[in-house]
Amino acid sequence: MNKIEHIGIAVENVEESNLLFAKLLNTESYKTEEVKSEGVKTSFFRIGDSKIELLEATNQDSSIAKFINKRGVGVHHIAMRVSDIYAEIKRLQNEGFTIIGDGTPKKGADNMLICFMHPKSTNGILIELCQEL
Ligand code: ZN
Repeated sequence: MNKIEHIGIAVENVEESNLLFAKLLNTESYKTEEVKSEGVKTSFFRIGDSKIELLEATNQDSSIAKFINKRGVGVHHIAMRVSDIYAEIKRLQNEGFTIIGDGTPKKGADNMLICFMHPKSTNGILIELCQEL
């Protein structure tokens, strides 16, 4: 794994949180993007060489809606940048980690190929792997 690509934060409302994070980080969001397949609206901020991703649910079946109902708003996942996501998935599965879904990466926000690791195999942390497309 190359670096922490971004930290994902579950929020109730991306527009409102954009104002808060713009003040907090002293920079504007550079991109807002809806990922229909995941039922989320996202917004990205650059912070040095890393990013903050805000995530708002666009429907009640979205994993973000479920997360907020259960645990409230706040840190949702940590995303690690990898150079070869297919090789990394294979390596992690061989090490005994659980990849969510069928182990095939899919297209996520911000032009990334992504997959998630199940928190039960990573000390309760939802980890996203991402490879730039
Ligand atoms: Zn993410």
